[in-house]
Parts: sequence; structure tokens; C-alpha cells
Amino acid sequence: MNKTIPFTKSELETIVEKYPTPFHIYDEKAIRENARKMKDAFSWMPGFKNYFAVKACPNPSIMQILKEEGFGADCSSIPELILAEKTGIIGENIMCTSNDTPVEEFLEARRLGAIINLDDILHIETLEKSSKLPELICFRYNPGSARAGNVIIGHPEEAKYGLTRDQVLKAYPLMKSKGVKRFGLHTMVASNELDPDYFIETARMLFGLAIELKAKADIRTEFVNMGGGIGIPYRPEEKEVDLYYVSDGIKKLYKEMIVPAGLDPLKIVFECGRMVTGPYGYLVSTVRQVAEKYKSYAGLDSCMTDLMRPALYGAYHHITVPGKGNLPKDHSYDVTGSLCENNDKFAIDRELPELEPGDLVVIHDTGAHGYSMGFNYNGKLKSAELLMQEDGRVRMIRRAETMDDYFATLNFKD
Ligand SMILES: *Cc1c(COP(=O)(O)O)cnc(C)c1O
Repeated sequence: MNKTIPFTKSELETIVEKYPTPFHIYDEKAIRENARKMKDAFSWMPGFKNYFAVKACPNPSIMQILKEEGFGADCSSIPELILAEKTGIIGENIMCTSNDTPVEEFLEARRLGAIINLDDILHIETLEKSSKLPELICFRYNPGSARAGNVIIGHPEEAKYGLTRDQVLKAYPLMKSKGVKRFGLHTMVASNELDPDYFIETARMLFGLAIELKAKADIRTEFVNMGGGIGIPYRPEEKEVDLYYVSDGIKKLYKEMIVPAGLDPLKIVFECGRMVTGPYGYLVSTVRQVAEKYKSYAGLDSCMTDLMRPALYGAYHHITVPGKGNLPKDHSYDVTGSLCENNDKFAIDRELPELEPGDLVVIHDTGAHGYSMGFNYNGKLKSAELLMQEDGRVRMIRRAETMDDYFATLNFKD
């Protein structure tokens, strides 16, 4: 994957004159094109919808764009539910997939008419406490050792999420006996997965379980939710997931399994976040200093507050230095932030052109799980978010935090 940026050095300098670094900037045109591609690839699927995982980029301006493209919202907390509501995403356009869920959250999800996806058999009781049971219920299935996991999500049998197979087979008939009429089936077993066959296998697993539920308990599954987890090529040598290949593979299984079982039409939905916005966001920073110690350290004006993934999972994020693209990458830097944590590094031993104070640095693929993961450790304030609109103009869609925001929860008088 050739890693490019959607602005020139001088365009970026114009943006920086108005909006000082650091900031995240999102490319609206690319987000829309990508959303349309996803819809096109999966267009044969009955009731296809992607419920955008709000945690990936919880900004109403971004959610609005995705709503216009026909996406729903996948929410895991009350604030995320309210964000969806404020964007005008309500009813069954919201999937509420949380875990260790409090009663209040179910209440809020019920108020909005969201689809409730239960993470645990215990949640049946919690939900009953919140209100009378809804007409439609979904459960999250955890296949345990039946599926291999990956680095971010871990092995399914070690994962805190979902119901075991035995629990699934008990939960649906129980809900039916309590008067629930409509059923969905969900799973999410991998995160940032680049192997397209993995998703075809997930469909096979869910289709198999839907068929079993019909045979054993006369449960007619209305939809399967494939979860999120479609990966993106963070590294230049990686390849993006071919959605058309995934779609064809699932279509074949649908014809082989679902149609003969009498389950057609079975809706197929996703709750992807990363692949929807990830590649179309960039963290823009300025080099503050280049320090020579036992190694060379390029210190930026941002830090892991703005992007946690490298520190959290050792994740690779590509770096471009606008205006220096044609220079040889003959210097090696640890590209660091200003936090008092030695893992506050965006890159380690990264080959780059020679850096100088004042250089603009663009960190790629921050459009999902970028801004949203940040914290205020060390009194670091969160950056602004900008949108590069389809017409090329740049608009601020979230201001940077100020000290007043940071102090807002404190009481200095006591
Ligand atoms: C995080 C998460 C997603 C989105 O994952 P991506 O990797 O961003 O696609 C979807 N569903 C659930 C339940 C999640 O926890």
C-alpha cells in the first residue's frame, strides 16, 4: 500500500497558520468514497448495514457523514448512545454492544429504541430490571477455542466477551419463552485482521449457529452481526482487505448454508470502525527538537495523548515529512512525544529524512482509535480535530482542550 497524504506541504502550512499543531485532520471525500465502496461490495446482502463503531472516532461531524452514507452507530456507553441520538441516529440504526453493562445504559438504549446486543447471560436479568424485555434481542457469541484470535483482541477463550456455545443454546429459547419475538446473533473475534478468509470463516461460524438454533430451538434468526475488526494496512508492505473477495466468499456460503436451511432472507450487518475512518485521518505535529543522546530523538509537539496505539500495542504508524519526500531516508530516529513515560514514542528506529525543528510531521492512519483513545495523563491536553471537506476547505470539528477543561472537574476551594 503506497502511503500518501491528501495535501501538499504548502497546503498544510496554510492550514497550520490557522490551526496550530498538533491536530488530527480527516479527509471527508476519502471517507465517503470508502463508505460507498463498502456498501457496493456488500450490496447483495439482505439488509446490509454497517453500524459504525463510535469509539473509533466519536465526533458528530464524522458520524453525520457516515449517517448520510447509510451507516448506523455501534455504541458501548451512555455518552456514545447520546452522540448517536444527537447525530439523528436512533431506533434500530443503533446497535448497543457493550459489556459489564449497567442498568442505566440499558434504560438509555431502550429509550432510543436501539438494538440490544447482550454480552452475557447475566445481562438478561439486568435488562429485565431496566424495563420489560424488548421485542428484538441479540447475543454476542464467543466461540472460545473454536477460533484463533489475534494480537489486539487476544484468544477468544481468554476474552471477557460474549456467551459460550452452551450459553447461547440456552439463552435464545429462554428469551423466546419470555416473549421475545425477534433475534439477532453477533460475534467479534478479531481486531485489525487483514486476512480476508478470516471474515468468511466468521460468516460460516455464525451461519452454522443460526441453522443450529433453528433446528434445535425453532429460533428464526433475523440478522447476523459480523462485528468489526476488518484491519487496515498500517505498514506500507501490507495489503488492504479485499471487500469484494470477502463478499463473494460469504455469498457462496449463504447459498450453500442459509438458503437450503430456509433462513433466507437473513440480514448481514457489520460494526466496523477502523476500516471506515482509520486510513483517512492524520495526526499533524511539528518537530520541537532533535536531541542527540545515545540515539537521535525527534521530539514532537504531540504525545501519546493524541495517539496511544504505538505505546499501547507497539503499533506501527507510517510517518511522512511533507516537503522532504524526495530526500533520502538516511537518518534513524525515535519519534517521541513530551510525556514523562519512556514508551511515549510514535516510532522507534524509524528511517526518515533528516529532521529539523519546525518541520511538519504527518502520522498516518489516525482516523480510528486515534484521538478517541487519548487521556490526560501528565496534564497533557487533547488536540483539535479538523475536517478537510469535500470542497477542499478545512473546518474545525472539535477544538483543542484548554486548561479550563482539564480543571473543570476539580474543586479548588476545599
Ligand atoms: C471495537 C469494536 C468494534 C469496532 O472494531 P474495529 O476494529 O474498529 O472495526 C466493533 N464492535 C465491538 C463490539 C467493538 O468492541
